[in-house]
Amino acid sequence: MARMKELFMEMLEQEPLNVPQEYPVYKTDILCPNCTESTLVQMSHDEYACDRCAYNFVSVEGSLRFK
Ligand SMILES: [Zn+2]
Repeated sequence: MARMKELFMEMLEQEPLNVPQEYPVYKTDILCPNCTESTLVQMSHDEYACDRCAYNFVSVEGSLRFK
């Protein structure tokens, strides 16, 4: 599901150019624990999202939990 990524790109475009992104979003190689059809996108230091099923996950002590 690309909708979340599109929304996030819109958010990025609304950021002033001189403000650095604290957490650039990047694709990880972690397979989504929910749908296992896509890898997770890291949204922030400990937050991950699946761009396929749109589930959000949070990293707790090194393991992923459903948010
Ligand atoms: Zn998923």
